[in-house]
Amino acid sequence: MTVRKNPVLVSDKAHAEALLEKYDNFLFDCDGVIWLDEKLIPGVLKTIEYLESKGKKFAFVTNNSSKSREAYVAKFLSLGFKGITRDRIFPTCFAAVQALQNVYNIQPNSKVWVLGDSGIEEELREEGYIPVGGTDKRLDQPFHPDHELLVVDPEVAAVIVGSTKEFNYMRIASTLQYLLYKNKSIPFIGANIDRSYPGPNGLILPAGGSVVNYMHYTADREFLNVGKPSKVFLDGILATHNYDRSRTLMVGDTLYTDIKFGNDGELGNGSGSLLVLTGGTKPNDLHQLLSNPHHYEGGESLIPSYVIESLGTLGELLS
Ligand SMILES: [Mg+2]
Repeated sequence: MTVRKNPVLVSDKAHAEALLEKYDNFLFDCDGVIWLDEKLIPGVLKTIEYLESKGKKFAFVTNNSSKSREAYVAKFLSLGFKGITRDRIFPTCFAAVQALQNVYNIQPNSKVWVLGDSGIEEELREEGYIPVGGTDKRLDQPFHPDHELLVVDPEVAAVIVGSTKEFNYMRIASTLQYLLYKNKSIPFIGANIDRSYPGPNGLILPAGGSVVNYMHYTADREFLNVGKPSKVFLDGILATHNYDRSRTLMVGDTLYTDIKFGNDGELGNGSGSLLVLTGGTKPNDLHQLLSNPHHYEGGESLIPSYVIESLGTLGELLS
């Protein structure tokens, strides 16, 4: 097991330049790093433009499954980013569809039951799958035992669960029928394990992992987590862009997903994780972790190599 030192606080120009020396490729989490819901975090755009001007490569890796890559392209554009193409965006709705193919060998044209937002449905359609459930308006109705969507469609080959703000009893009950069907043998893919995410107005809001774990509990069966910190997810991203693992840094705001993802994936020869404090993790959370890492599930794998106030600060220190 790697013994992790306390993180280096990136607080002056020399620290920031040392980071730039060490890394060619940057993986950015989105919620709490780039933006808080629809609001850009100050200075982030300048930092990204600076990195680009220095020939650095970057990709966005988000456990948020609610939007497809296409929808993220539009969001980046609306927030002032230029030229962010969809091959550089890795949301877990995309990762879930990849897993259908690569892990379960489920053929296109198959039906897939969705508990989640339109991002999952759009990514499924793009690969030729047929989403069912999901945003179907009939699932907005109050629960009734005679509801047509409580009858299992035997053609459904897998279940994908992710975040949704439309989590109601009809959706829970119908999804449960598929998870129990055929002796619980239909693949159960979870888009992420995030308990919460940093929203606007300082709010901490329920995230996809709370939905996935609700279904895990009620169906009493395990799921495949395709989001961070999955090594399969990371390896796929590095392979897609030919990123050198030892020259890649993961930047995120969540210890048990982002930081663990970078650490478990041995990025930067074991020191490739940078925590920002603009999202869900506060200085006191980090302090508590450092004083007793073994109290936490994941232990030292949650300790970041570096910490910085904000991704915006990096650009400020460098320019
Ligand atoms: Mg985040």
